[in-house]
Amino acid sequence: MEVVSIGVALILVLGLVTMFIIQTVVRQDMNKSGEQLTDFAINYRAKDLEEIFDVSKNLVSIIASDKEIISFLRDEEAKKNRGDEMNEKLLNYNSGNNYSAIYLIGKDGRTRASTDRSFIDQDYSFRQYFKEAMRGENYADVNVGVTSKKMGYYFSSPIKIDNEVVGVAVIKMNPEIVFSFLKEECIAALSDLMVVDRFGIVVGANRDGLIFKSLGKISQDKEEILATEDKYPNVMIDSLSYQEILNELQYIGNEVRDFKTYDNLNKRFENIIVTKVGEYNFFLVAKIDDQKVAFETGLMFRKIGGVILVIMFFGSVLMLFLMSSRLNPLEQLLVMSRKISMGDFDYKNPVKQKNDLAELGETMETMAMTIKHRWDELEKMVEERTEKLNEQAKSMENTKLAVNNILDDVEGVASDLEKYKMAVDNSSDCVVITDLEGVVIYVNKAVERVTGFSTYEVIGKKAGSKVLWGGQMPKEFYEKLWKTIKSDKKVFEGELNNHSKNGRPYISRLTISPILSNSDEVLYFVGVERDITREKEVDRSKTDFIYLTSHQLRTPLSAMKWFCEMLLAGDAGELTKDQREFVENISQSNERMIDLINSLLNISRVESGRIIIDPTPTDLEKLVQDVLTELDKNIKEKKQEVLLSVSDSLPRVNVDPKLIREVYKNLLTNANKYTQEGGRISVIISVEGGEVVSQISDNGMGIPVADQSKIFERFFRAENIIKLETEGTGLGLYLAKAIVESSMGKIWFKSQEKVGTNFWFTLPLSGVKAHKGQVSINS
Ligand code: ADP
Repeated sequence: MEVVSIGVALILVLGLVTMFIIQTVVRQDMNKSGEQLTDFAINYRAKDLEEIFDVSKNLVSIIASDKEIISFLRDEEAKKNRGDEMNEKLLNYNSGNNYSAIYLIGKDGRTRASTDRSFIDQDYSFRQYFKEAMRGENYADVNVGVTSKKMGYYFSSPIKIDNEVVGVAVIKMNPEIVFSFLKEECIAALSDLMVVDRFGIVVGANRDGLIFKSLGKISQDKEEILATEDKYPNVMIDSLSYQEILNELQYIGNEVRDFKTYDNLNKRFENIIVTKVGEYNFFLVAKIDDQKVAFETGLMFRKIGGVILVIMFFGSVLMLFLMSSRLNPLEQLLVMSRKISMGDFDYKNPVKQKNDLAELGETMETMAMTIKHRWDELEKMVEERTEKLNEQAKSMENTKLAVNNILDDVEGVASDLEKYKMAVDNSSDCVVITDLEGVVIYVNKAVERVTGFSTYEVIGKKAGSKVLWGGQMPKEFYEKLWKTIKSDKKVFEGELNNHSKNGRPYISRLTISPILSNSDEVLYFVGVERDITREKEVDRSKTDFIYLTSHQLRTPLSAMKWFCEMLLAGDAGELTKDQREFVENISQSNERMIDLINSLLNISRVESGRIIIDPTPTDLEKLVQDVLTELDKNIKEKKQEVLLSVSDSLPRVNVDPKLIREVYKNLLTNANKYTQEGGRISVIISVEGGEVVSQISDNGMGIPVADQSKIFERFFRAENIIKLETEGTGLGLYLAKAIVESSMGKIWFKSQEKVGTNFWFTLPLSGVKAHKGQVSINS
């Protein structure tokens, strides 16, 4: 129903709008064209009037050219004789009875024959129509008859014989013909329609009151002419208020002239239309009432409005009818759409007829099915997504837990790191971290304490340089250091002389470790330095003490050795068997004591730094062979196999043979001592990258893993050896190590219990630097 109401309202609004548009926009145009139409209509009326006049004009022309009439006027005699006959003839021309008189005037102005007998012999020579006709022209005029006293339209025509006017034919037309013509309804807006003569006097009108009124005031001249012509005898001529038209009248032709005059009486403007009637001396004057025009236009609009209203009414009824026939299915479709919008996608098309609405219903049904299908798919997708989301949420929960754990760990690590940092910061050893070029990036507190340089002074400077605490060692030391940590990427260990900021010299034990990245590139170096000056001093006094006591002990031991030898040699008399046994025991113990004292002395010599290092080009093969020869007795005793292999490329090496001999001797003695009978001993000397490497191997009893770390310590002897009660002091390896390191070499070993032992030591191929000491080994 809503649709219908909207439709009807729409029609009404449209109708009203149309009417308004016509009223406001079209009306002005129509007024204008209404005026034009009026002009046209007046013109048309003038033409009609001209035709009416033409009929009379033609008739009078026919009469004037009638041969009988011509001969009647020519024959003076006949006039009298044939007058009655002629009167009868003229009557024949008035068959329609439109003329009140038809008459013939002689050239003297007197009427010769007439349908109205009272005209006969009357003199009409004063009449204009006579005068004009006598001049040979047809003429039309309005007069009030002098004889009949009645108004009429006079049409005259000259009667000619051989171009000479011999008389005038006149017909007096009944004015009613003009009056009734003017009274004919032609234009609704027309109020007055008049015919005026050449003087501007109304001679015909659609209402009687206008006859013989003048358009305006008649001038004096014209008054005189009127009197002369005796046109309207005994007639009172009043003036109308159209003076302007009267003045203009003589200039008006057949074209329509519009005048706007003010009607004093009615107090309003009037439209006056004037036009000449053909060639006649008459003018058609029409007064158009503006109000009437407006009224007519309004009427027209009211009619149009009425028609529109009727159309609207019938349109609405028609629409109602059409709508009501479609409303039911529409309502059904409305219900359907509501149901679908509420989620009832199974709702079927309710329109059963076969029309476009049914088609719409089917489309809606299909649409609902498609929506349902999509909906189902969507629900499925949502379910799947929800499931996935739940899984993700779960895994996120787990991740969160894991992250929390990691955070806990990180917190732990951070606190650990803090601990480490504190430990490093407060370590008694100096810790220095440098970049690849040795530029310091971190130092702990100990550095300032030991070196005297503040952290601020150290950071950014090269560690170990002269501007700081270093630079006291020979060039080679630093070269070796850098080679080890940078090129070989290995840990450097060594002792070096430094001096603090205030010039105090001190000795450090230094360990530098390169820190490597995953791709085995050096990132930075961490150096740990310990001031061992004090330790060194203690060691030195110890060494000095051992040296002194050993030295002191050597003399009585030597004396004991001599006395034992003398006793055994029988210098004090022959010894009994028991005595000899006792003295031999004393002698052996004394020998061990001497060995021990010698070892101690040698060690103290090396450790004190007072030992002379006197390098000479040495044939190491020969040196080893000498040692083997010395040990030959012991080797043979144990039936051991000895192998010596020396690299062909081995040159003579610039070392101190006394010292190096001591190293070989110690290592080979051990191999002999700690290898069972029938065992194998080998010595291999090779050259490897700037170093001479000596390898002394045996397949003896080996060193227990637990003891391996202490093997180079003073007086240390492994457990498996002590059980066997073999002779030894535990000083041999200690001395060997001291000699090798003082000769710029390294010593190390690999051993497995009950399998065998390998010792290696290196010496620089370039030779050992000389040292001006005070004592030499075994001296
Ligand atoms: P020692 O006088 O006891 O030989 P060293 O200093 O020469 O003293 O040796 C220390 C210890 O190292 C020995 O006591 C022994 O336990 C062990 N050792 C040295 N060389 C060997 C070897 N070749 N085989 C097994 N043990 C060895």
